[in-house]
Amino acid sequence: MKLTILGCSGSIPGPDSPSSGYLLESGGTRIVLDLGNGTLGALQRFIDPFALDALFFSHLHPDHCADFGALAVLRRYHPNPPEHARLPVIAPANAPERFAALYAPNAEEQAETDLSDVFEFIPTPAEPVRIGPFEVQAMPVAHLCEAWGFRVAAEGKVLAYTGDTGPCPQLAELAANADVLLSEASWADFPDAPDGVHLSGRQAAEVAKTAEARRLLLTHVVPWADGNAILAEAEAVFDGPAELVAADRTYEI
Ligand SMILES: [Zn+2]
Repeated sequence: MKLTILGCSGSIPGPDSPSSGYLLESGGTRIVLDLGNGTLGALQRFIDPFALDALFFSHLHPDHCADFGALAVLRRYHPNPPEHARLPVIAPANAPERFAALYAPNAEEQAETDLSDVFEFIPTPAEPVRIGPFEVQAMPVAHLCEAWGFRVAAEGKVLAYTGDTGPCPQLAELAANADVLLSEASWADFPDAPDGVHLSGRQAAEVAKTAEARRLLLTHVVPWADGNAILAEAEAVFDGPAELVAADRTYEI
């Protein structure tokens, strides 16, 4: 499968990257994990957004879902939309209301907004979701709201994506023997870092080491953090290959 980084800037868009968004392709099937601020523009550089087969959201903070409103405009108002089915959207159960708020300008229109004409909303299930060659297993992680990591299998390979999370026991299962762990590493270690929010570079590497992942891709570095320091503390823990991802980069998994 092929991974394309649509955006990797943590918490807000940065000068060099949109917020979080990841395109995965396998055998002509395309899915996206998260669609943060600026990622719909990036997506259009790689594929026709109408050719997307499913969209998964780790959680509903703006840096992971803000461009859903823009995607709704595209799918509703493109003058010549290609033939397409409703797009499956796998997301926390409150997504229809949350996305109506992204789309509508005021409370009255928000209450009347029903985007189910172009989207099929599926509350994130405990069972795997199959989309073409992809099998996507969601696992709950520890963040400030309902949040999920995704373990994505295709072509005999596994990508584990943490979404946003603090350290939690589920991460070892999420990343177990994964070919790639795409892990958030929002900041470098600091004393008294809050629980259940984000991972440091060291903590991301500890997940990779414990889970025996083969490769560590670090993402969601906030623009005010030192990415090289985050990478250095990860490399001190994890023996395998580790790197900071960058917008528009692609990886064969
Ligand atoms: Zn985030």
